[in-house]
Amino acid sequence: MVTTSIITIGDELLIGQTIDTNSAWMAQQLNAMGIWVHRRVAIGDVKEDILTTMAKEAAVSDIILITGGLGPTADDITKPTLCEYFGTRLVQDEEVLKKVLYMFESRGLPILQRNVDQALVPASCTVLSNDRGSAPGMWFEKDGKIYVSMPGVPHEMKGIMENHVLPRLEAHFNTPAVVHHTLITSGMGESFVAERITDFEAKLPPHIKLAYLPSYSLLKLRLTAQGADKITTAAELGIYFTELKERLVDITVADQDLTMGEVLGGLLKERGKTVGTAESCTGGLIASWITAVPGSSNYFKGSVVAYANEMKVKMLGVQAATLQAHGAVSEATVREMVTGALQLLETDYAIAVSGIMGPDGGTPEKPVGTVWIAVGSRQRTTAIKYHLRYDRERNTQMTAVYAMNELRKLILQED
Ligand code: AMP
Ligand code: MG
Repeated sequence: MVTTSIITIGDELLIGQTIDTNSAWMAQQLNAMGIWVHRRVAIGDVKEDILTTMAKEAAVSDIILITGGLGPTADDITKPTLCEYFGTRLVQDEEVLKKVLYMFESRGLPILQRNVDQALVPASCTVLSNDRGSAPGMWFEKDGKIYVSMPGVPHEMKGIMENHVLPRLEAHFNTPAVVHHTLITSGMGESFVAERITDFEAKLPPHIKLAYLPSYSLLKLRLTAQGADKITTAAELGIYFTELKERLVDITVADQDLTMGEVLGGLLKERGKTVGTAESCTGGLIASWITAVPGSSNYFKGSVVAYANEMKVKMLGVQAATLQAHGAVSEATVREMVTGALQLLETDYAIAVSGIMGPDGGTPEKPVGTVWIAVGSRQRTTAIKYHLRYDRERNTQMTAVYAMNELRKLILQED
């Protein structure tokens, strides 16, 4: 099996100022084409560390992917270090120079020596052009190993990977076909799901793996198959996936790896229905997730972020007496928020949420994490209470997922 090490370089990664998203993204891409990621290492902008890490990783992997340290500032030292490692020197690349000059001239900026130096590359590398920035990618081969150095800026790295590195790796290695299929479930913890499908898991052949991926109250079950070619591998995986889906039909949310916004959007679009939201504690997050989906204007009409009580009254027509008697975080309030949203936004469906996300604001009767969710149509409204136990950010995200899932269930009930 072809193996890779990913080395991410940058002092900012070590202190947690920048989160290393590059290696996660690269690992996903490599995994999808059947290249095994053996190790991911983050190091600082330190010459000795770069040299020893490259040598150490080359001893165990066929491919060494490196990001970071290619900027025009003094802290970035990857390029001269690569020259030292490969026993070569920096030379000017005319193509890169032309592009750098153009980038600065077209913006009317003066060009500095440090920008011109972006066109210096180690003589022994193959230059991989960067359409999104000035520092190019660099491909090296030494003692049967492949090394690629790319800029740390995620968007630039992705362009170089997609345009050059992945196609070259595919051509270079005879990688197996890898096929994934994901089932999304809700309402049952992973250990209970695992109990239900023990015999299914036991009979999976060694080249088909099942992964449990819990996230924000949903559980994703991903089946991955490896085989010689894509078509037969996908067909074989399909048989197992169909069985898995049938076994878990009562808790299935989607039979593809979709966001909750995509799941809901799909249901609404198929039925020609519209939705709006009345959000207190989620502050518009549900609307944001719905509108993250291209084409959502077909079914999403708008949102009322009614954070203060007076806005629940003024914009959504919640009765002051209801708020007085039951409080903002109550079944009665979220039900009236749904009614108000359906009227104001003139939609077929509405979602309303009100809760205490923390860290403070809780009371003995309504502790932090208490959330009321209501979803409704012109015919019916259902309401449900949750007790979440995480921090503010996670509680908010979970509320959005739960609320959207409640609407999904209501839409299906109405079929
Ligand atoms: P550099 O190529 O070292 O000049 O990196 C440029 C910028 O890319 C840095 O300021 C970081 O914000 C970002 N960056 C570097 N490495 C990573 C990484 N592994 N993951 C995400 N962002 C990164
Ligand atoms: Mg850097």
